[in-house]
Amino acid sequence: MNSMRIYADNAATTAISPAAIDAMLTCMRESDGNPSSLHSAGQKAAEALADARGRIAARLGCEPAELIFTSGGSEADNQALRGIAHLGAAKGKKHIISTAFEHHAVLHTLRKLEKEGFTVTLLDVHENGIVTPEEVRAAIRPDTCLVSVMYANNEIGTIQPIAEIGRVCREAGVLFHTDAVQAVGHLPIDVKAQNIDLLSLSAHKFHGPKGTGALYVRKGIYLEPLIEGGAQERGRRAGTENLPAIVGMAAALDEACDHLDEYTARLIPLRDRLIAGLSRIPHAVLNGDAKQRLPGNVSFCFEGIEGESLLLLLDDKGICASSGSACTSGSLDPSHVLLAIGRVHDVAHGSLRLSLGADVTEEEIDYLIQAVTETVAYLRSISPVWRDLQRGVRDYIIA
Ligand SMILES: *Cc1c(COP(=O)(O)O)cnc(C)c1O
Repeated sequence: MNSMRIYADNAATTAISPAAIDAMLTCMRESDGNPSSLHSAGQKAAEALADARGRIAARLGCEPAELIFTSGGSEADNQALRGIAHLGAAKGKKHIISTAFEHHAVLHTLRKLEKEGFTVTLLDVHENGIVTPEEVRAAIRPDTCLVSVMYANNEIGTIQPIAEIGRVCREAGVLFHTDAVQAVGHLPIDVKAQNIDLLSLSAHKFHGPKGTGALYVRKGIYLEPLIEGGAQERGRRAGTENLPAIVGMAAALDEACDHLDEYTARLIPLRDRLIAGLSRIPHAVLNGDAKQRLPGNVSFCFEGIEGESLLLLLDDKGICASSGSACTSGSLDPSHVLLAIGRVHDVAHGSLRLSLGADVTEEEIDYLIQAVTETVAYLRSISPVWRDLQRGVRDYIIA
């Protein structure tokens, strides 16, 4: 039972796949030119870049020219929001709709845009962690230039009705962006069929390298670049391309998409076994819809404990987990995602996110259940809050 090591923090980052490493090494050894150079070394690099772009585009259902390579998901989100905001402003449309549980790359960019004179409506999220197309429709105004709703949430894993939200936006003539960083490589995606105008992705969330990603921008939409300089990416993002990382991203995405059905079919029963096991802990609640969630995501709140203590003790048991988002660890504020779905502060503090890898085994799931159950019981045994709850001095919030 001891000495098991389980990496259950794949929503923070995934291990780079051997196929991606091989592709990157080959690229660094054999295509080390600058893709913008006219000589043969440059042309070889340009061919590798075009090949990677074509393969990634095919996996998203878009054209290669509709992809802009970026330094990752955060840059793609910043570029999408700022680019569309400025297009909107030029037409006198300065209203943006998004949701209260987006990643900070979206929320903080929106906060900046508000300071620059834009108006932002953040839609409330239901307790099940899902935003409805009707709510998006009701929030659209004549001056709305953009709707941005994430594909799948990075903390609670809930999947949004993206195609339907996209249809609502199309009908209203409003551009639609989705932060699909948690979805690409994990869920089927077709930007055309799903009415998506802009989509952000990041390689390190699907076993590619860190520091690389892409923004899909539908043909005909011209965004002012975030990074000025050379004419790379058709003048839409300056800077010599990170070719080895882009090639590694293409290899990782091919591998993820080739095995998507198999991994999904394997993971869902294991995820549900973990959810069922952790639901047996008293005064515990699953965060987000039980079914409409990423195949590898399990997120719980346990009353009467601190998530940080739980993480440290689980680490001692060989388990790498998270209390929510990697971006907020170190801060004492409870997760904005958990608050958005209506968890009160005291409950939100006792959160745990386990994001499973596709190779997790049933034995590991059972170890996770046992380790979390024991650790929550131990932390409660030394928790003054739990003692007060047991004595009836304060009331349980989670039934
Ligand atoms: C990880 C993540 C990002 C940021 O991507 P980086 O490549 O790390 O910049 C943005 N949005 C979501 C939903 C994420 O999970």
